Amino acid sequence: MTITRRYRFCAAHRLHSDSLSAEENQRVFGKCNNPNGHGHNYVVFVTVTSDEVGEMAVIERLDQTVGETVLARFDHQDLNSDPAFANRTTTGENLVKLIWDLLAPKLSGARLNKVGVVETRDNYFEYVGEA
Ligand SMILES: [Zn+2]
Repeated sequence: MTITRRYRFCAAHRLHSDSLSAEENQRVFGKCNNPNGHGHNYVVFVTVTSDEVGEMAVIERLDQTVGETVLARFDHQDLNSDPAFANRTTTGENLVKLIWDLLAPKLSGARLNKVGVVETRDNYFEYVGEA
């Protein structure tokens, strides 16, 4: 059995790669390359498996870990300023993988199954770890 919890945070970002020209950045990233940046109300789905009895305990611990590890780090921040994004763009793909990498070692009593990130109404990113 798996449990999925939904979390939310608001953050700003700009999709930009220093290795691309201004025209290429514009072509690849579109309006997300706007120099002034922009914000998203990110929704994060965290799915875990637990063998423990008592889902409330699992949920409480998960809420605490996600709060400390993900929400405290990203909420109302500029993602481009986060050290983890020093050498990679703040795409949804990179963000969902980063959240997985931050959470996986921190969970106790539960195993991370899947992380999903909703960036916009139409963009949803999902990561289930290495195959
Ligand atoms: Zn964006």
